[in-house]
Amino acid sequence: MKRDPDRQAIINEAVRLYREALEDLLPGENATLDQVETAITEIGHEVFPDLQEKLINERNRKARVNKIDCACGGVTRYRGMCTKTLITVHGLLRLKRPYYHCSS
Ligand SMILES: [Zn+2]
Repeated sequence: MKRDPDRQAIINEAVRLYREALEDLLPGENATLDQVETAITEIGHEVFPDLQEKLINERNRKARVNKIDCACGGVTRYRGMCTKTLITVHGLLRLKRPYYHCSS
């Protein structure tokens, strides 16, 4: 099976960030249960928002087409990318989506 280079880039970056977060934040063997719980949460905060954003934005980047049929019966044309910030369970997500305009 051929590997998707975009998918591999996302995986490589996530592993790199995860390793960096673990090296910075992984508690020592004398840590209390509370300290371990807090550290695991912080490690997740370092990795999950970035991974989520890359996965979502990669999908939107690939999905772009130049024209889409509009609900009014006309045709919408691609005008560029727009960014919308959403609040998710993994933190803020800067969603980059293609923006289309209908001239009908
Ligand atoms: Zn329209």
